[in-house]
Order: sequence, then C-alpha cells, then structure tokens
Amino acid sequence: MKRTITTLAMSALVVSGFAATGTGKVDAATKSTYKVKIKADGLRVRTGPSLKYRIVDGVNSGQTFKYLGHRGNWTKILHKGHKRYVYSGYVKKYRVSGHTAKKASFSTSSNGFSRPTSGPVTQGYGKTSGIFGYTFHNGIDFGAPTGTPVKAAAAGKVIKSSYQGAYGNHVMVKHKVHGISYTTVYAHLSKRSVFVGQTIPKGATIGAVGSTGNSTGAHLHFEIHRGNYVYSGTSAANSVNPLAFL
Ligand SMILES: [Zn+2]
Repeated sequence: MKRTITTLAMSALVVSGFAATGTGKVDAATKSTYKVKIKADGLRVRTGPSLKYRIVDGVNSGQTFKYLGHRGNWTKILHKGHKRYVYSGYVKKYRVSGHTAKKASFSTSSNGFSRPTSGPVTQGYGKTSGIFGYTFHNGIDFGAPTGTPVKAAAAGKVIKSSYQGAYGNHVMVKHKVHGISYTTVYAHLSKRSVFVGQTIPKGATIGAVGSTGNSTGAHLHFEIHRGNYVYSGTSAANSVNPLAFL
C-alpha cells in the first residue's frame, strides 16, 4: 500500500512539472528571449534528452541558463558553451527582454578554478537536515568511483595532507587566484599523493576518490574557502559555493 501511494505521489510531481514548464516547439525568433532557472540542487546535466545520455555536470537551485528549446520532457540549455539537457520537471522557463537580458550571476571558469574530479554533483552546497551530523554542507560532493583521480582546482601550495576526523584522508591547498587568496579542501580520499609544503600546478593529481571519514559511499567532498580554512558545520562561515567558481 505504501508503495502505491509513493508511486502516485511521484506521478503527480512529474505531471505538475510538465505543466509548469510548458510543452511544444519554439521557433528561432523566441529562442533568445527565454532563460531557465534551476529548481533543484544537484540536477544532472546530460549530453542528450534521456537518462541514457552521459552526465556532464550538476547544477543547483537558482542557477540560470539560456533556453534553447524542448525535446520531449527535456529542456535544452546552453551550459558552459555546449548544448545540454536537463529534466524539465526541475526547471522553470522565463522570459527575458532581448538585448538587455541580465547576465547570470553564475560565472563559468572566469574565477580560475576547475573541477577537481569527474562525476555528477550528488550533494549541493547549503543547509541540510542534519542527519549526517552537520546542518550546513559547506562544500559539494562529486559521486565518483574509488580510485578516480582528484586534481588541484587551481595552482597552489599544499598546507595539509592528513588522515583525521570527519574528513578522513584529506588535502588542503592554499591558492592565490586573481589576487585573492583561497583555500580548497578535498576530503574522504582513498589515498593522498602530495605532502605539506609542496607547490603544485592546477590539475596536479593530489589523491584519489574514496570513502574515508564521515562518508557512506565513494565521493569527493570539495570546499572552497575565501582566505584561510575556517570550519563550520552550521553556517557558511567563509566557505563559498564551489559551483559558482568552477
Ligand atoms: Zn560533502
């Protein structure tokens, strides 16, 4: 019985998603006058309009993208310069006024950081229920198999490389990007390949994805802090949403 109710509830959600985002073709003239706003955290971005296509990224609530059209239940968007697809049930399409379209606050690649590993974003940045022992997730998680290389998101100097506490095997790197100092954190690693004091270039392998510390499955937990590392499990402290910097 419980299962039936759950299934019905899911169907209702999907149907209302379709209604909210509309259907039908869009002609060339209207393409440039619409954008879409993401309504879910960790929404998967795919190379094509079905679940069988490759996941290339995850996007979060509030991010906006240029709308390029629909294919069935999928919305085509311009994502980091490529035509990509997201499930229409979790986006909202809205009209913008042609040439004066406000630039999305989300910036891609202009901040000098790159993705530290492959795989989709399985948990976004921000408030959480607290069931995992923290009420603010001050980083993002990338789901990737154990052993997947983890790379420095920017050039910098290794300031920590240890096995300790909730982070398990983790590395911290200090950076100077466009004149601003940042600290990045890479946690739950299966192995570490760098030592404290080492200067590393952007993209250097610093370890591999694992599930050490407070982790229930293989993933990379990645944080970006402005300035020095400050821990907080209840608020953002000086952490920033990495998705706004990658
Ligand atoms: Zn995490």
